[in-house]
Amino acid sequence: MIREEEARAQIIETIRPLPARRVPMLKALDCFAAQDCFARFPLPNFDNSAMDGYAVVASACRAGSRLQIVGEQPAGEDRQLRVSQGEAVRIFTGAPIPAGADAVIMQEDVTRDGNEIIANVDIDQGEFLRRRGCDLSEGQKTLGKGDRIRSVTLALLASQGVEEIEIGGEVRASLITTGDELVTAGQPLQLGQIYESNSTLLRALFERCGAVSESVQHCTDHSEVLIAALKVAVTNPILVIAGGVSVGEHDLVQSALRSLGAKIDIWRVAVKPGKPFLFGRLGECAIFGLPGNPVSAFVTFLRFVRPAVLKMMGASDSALELPKIPARLDVDLTNDGERTHYFRGRLEQGKFKPVGRQESHALFGLSQSNALLRLQPGAKLARGATIDVQIWDWT
Ligand code: AMP
Ligand code: MG
Repeated sequence: MIREEEARAQIIETIRPLPARRVPMLKALDCFAAQDCFARFPLPNFDNSAMDGYAVVASACRAGSRLQIVGEQPAGEDRQLRVSQGEAVRIFTGAPIPAGADAVIMQEDVTRDGNEIIANVDIDQGEFLRRRGCDLSEGQKTLGKGDRIRSVTLALLASQGVEEIEIGGEVRASLITTGDELVTAGQPLQLGQIYESNSTLLRALFERCGAVSESVQHCTDHSEVLIAALKVAVTNPILVIAGGVSVGEHDLVQSALRSLGAKIDIWRVAVKPGKPFLFGRLGECAIFGLPGNPVSAFVTFLRFVRPAVLKMMGASDSALELPKIPARLDVDLTNDGERTHYFRGRLEQGKFKPVGRQESHALFGLSQSNALLRLQPGAKLARGATIDVQIWDWT
C-alpha cells in the first residue's frame, strides 16, 4: 500500500499531454491553452470617450465656461475633428477623441444652449477619456500555456479579433463497469440486484473535466467478457474500470489486465475511502481501476483520474488540484486510522460540516455534499478549527 500523495505524484509524472489542436473559440471553453498568447494590438486601440458628452480642452472647461460646438463624433468612424480652447465636439461612448481634446465632459454636466454648451462643473485633464493601451499593451501576455480558458478569456481574445485558438488534446475516455449484481435503468430489479449508477457518475465527472466518454461498457464478472471489453477500451488514451479491482473471487480486473500484458504500477493506496485502487498501463492507455462503491469511486476519481485527464488536456501543474477554500470546522473530527481520510461534507457560509453517513456505499450523503476535507492519519481537529476544504461543486 502506498501513500496517497505518492500515488498521485507517480500518476501525474507518468501521464503525457496529448497533441495540441486548433479549434474555433467557443470549442475552447474550459480547455487549456497549448501556447502563450500575446496581444496583437493595445486595448483600447485608440483614445476614446467613456461617456456620451462633449470632447473639450480641460484647461478651458471650468464651471460657467461657454463652449462652441464645432462638430459631432459618433462611434464607429473617425471624422478627424479638432478641438481648440473655447470649443467642444459632441461625442458618444466609444468614439475616437478629436485632436486637441484631452477630456470629456458628460452631457449631464452641461447646459445646452443652441450651438453652445455651458459647463456646470470643472473638468480635469483625462476625465472620461480611455487612453490607448490603458487596459492592455501591445505584446502583453493574454494567456499562458496550460491556463484554463474561461468565458472571460474568450472575451479578451475575441476583442483581439482571434477566431481560432490552439488548445491541448481532446481526451477520449473509456469506461467499464463490472458486477453481476448490477442492472441497467429500465430493467426490473430482482431481489439482490441493484441499479448500476457508477457509469452515470463517472461519465458526468469525465464531462466536468472536459473529457469525452467515447466507449462505455458494462461487464458481468466473467474473465472472457471482461477481457473482450478491455481490448476495445484500451484503444483510448484513458480507461476507468469501476468495481472488480479488489481481492474477492469475483474481482477479476487485475488478472484480466495482466493476461493482456498490462503493467500495474500502483495497487492499493492509503486513502479512505478508496483503498482498492489500481493504476496501470497498456500501450498508450492509462488505466485506472476504481473501487465499485460509489463514494470510493468518486473520491478516487477526483484525486487520481481528474488530474490525469487535465494533464492530458495540457493543463499546467498548478491547474491540476481542486480549488481550496479556508473554512471553519463545525464539529470535532479525528482520523485514528492509518489512511488519509476524505470526509464528504457541506461548506456553507464559511463553515464545513460532514454530511450523511461516511461510508463508501452511502450515496445519499455524497449527493448532499459539496466539498472534501482531507485528514491525515493521527489528525485531531476541534470544532472551530480553521481548515482548507477542497471544493468540487464548482459550477
Ligand atoms: P466491487 O468493487 O466490485 O467489490 O463493488 C463494491 C460495491 O460497489 C458493491 O456493493 C457493488 O455492488 C457496488 N458497485 C460496484 N459497481 C457498481 C456500479 N457500477 N454501480 C453501483 N454500485 C456498484
Ligand atoms: Mg464487483
